[in-house]
Amino acid sequence: MKQAKKNKKPMPLAGQIFIALVLAIIVGLLIQPYAKFASTYITPFGTIFLNLIKFIVGPIVLFSIMAGVVSMKDIKKVGAIGGTTLIYYLCTTAFATAIGLFLANSFQKYFPVLSVSNLSYKAGDKVSAMDTLVNVFPSNFLAPLYEANMLQVIVMALILGFAIILVGKKAEPAVRAVDVCNNVFMKAMEMILKLSPIGVFCLLCPVIAENGAKILGSLAMVLLVAYIGYIAHALIVYSLAVRTLGGMNPVKFFKGMLPAILFAFSSASSVGTLPLNMECTEKLGVPKEVSSFVLPLGATINMDGTAIYQGVCSVFIAACYGIHLTFPQMITIVVTATLASIGTAGVPGSGMVMLAMVLQSVGLPVDGIALVAGIDRIFDMGRTTVNITGDASCSVIVSHLLRNKIASWGKTQATAVAETSEELDTMANEKASSMEEALGDVQGVSAADLEVHTSSENEDTEGEKK
Ligand code: ASP
Repeated sequence: MKQAKKNKKPMPLAGQIFIALVLAIIVGLLIQPYAKFASTYITPFGTIFLNLIKFIVGPIVLFSIMAGVVSMKDIKKVGAIGGTTLIYYLCTTAFATAIGLFLANSFQKYFPVLSVSNLSYKAGDKVSAMDTLVNVFPSNFLAPLYEANMLQVIVMALILGFAIILVGKKAEPAVRAVDVCNNVFMKAMEMILKLSPIGVFCLLCPVIAENGAKILGSLAMVLLVAYIGYIAHALIVYSLAVRTLGGMNPVKFFKGMLPAILFAFSSASSVGTLPLNMECTEKLGVPKEVSSFVLPLGATINMDGTAIYQGVCSVFIAACYGIHLTFPQMITIVVTATLASIGTAGVPGSGMVMLAMVLQSVGLPVDGIALVAGIDRIFDMGRTTVNITGDASCSVIVSHLLRNKIASWGKTQATAVAETSEELDTMANEKASSMEEALGDVQGVSAADLEVHTSSENEDTEGEKK
């Protein structure tokens, strides 16, 4: 009997979170008359969970990107992965904003006419594009972590990672230290994530209790448009990208991503979903050295779902105020939403804060954010799901393209050796034939080497999972 109890596997985290989500909706609807009680006594437990996530975000991003850079050892490889990743991230985000704008414009006449008096929303100071650029670079070693300025943490991680590679052999203790710190913080993250079913329930239940079906009803249309955008972007853009650039069947991709998708939907945090996203992509065959670089970077700077949301909400807010957006204004929104999504932290609610920057860029009333603030969580669940799926699709694509690159590097070496062997052939036939034999050996060894490397990586992952 005891043995049977011992053998019983605990329910997977994604299942627990799903149950918490359903319970939060049911309980939230039931305790609607006690919404104040819910926000006073249930929300704080959700806030504790969020605080723990915020606490771990900085070190996770710092060490996972450093470990990712250092593990590649070769600056050329970092450049290749980083370049492809950035281009993919920026293009898909700009495209996502355009989808959001297009859909919102198409559905504009169905948006409810809302009373826009009594709205109040305080935005931060207006930040110019040049200030945004300058603020990417840290002026202090500790401030980026202290202020949780994720872009600065990324820059710091990249500089330090490159420095470790360039110092070379002497920096080996630093390589080990980064690896150890990365493992320790990942473990801490895992511990915190075990609390996520409780966190999800405590965050969601008061929101449902407070807003009920009423708020959902009046804003259903704008929500629907955003969700159509999320689904269209995921199904069209990612499916095509994964199929054409990543060489993977989209069905296999989405199936493999399901646990992370469910988690992102429930937690509304890209950073919180990071460990699960890494696990899912690695199971899909993405090498650890790619996922540990592409995914943390994506969780911090790639926000396609957020960009769709910002496009949709800009048009929605403009419509509520009776403002018609011009084409140049739309272009400005695409550019600012792409930049804003880079600056958006992968935690719940940050996309709404960045919406202020987008609205300001085209002179729309920032107060309009109050219109959508009440249901931001529901927008956020969908946009986070798209955000992390975009990161994962990039890791699949980069690992596919990288494989070709590694193969082409191998071929370049082989061609160089072959040319040398031809020259030698004219000098001495005997030596030439032995060179060709050696060439065959070299090719054989490099292919085998690659295989050993990959399988040992897999063993590592397996070992860690065990
Ligand atoms: N919650 C989103 C994320 O973590 C960011 C946002 O608020 O848009 O990806």
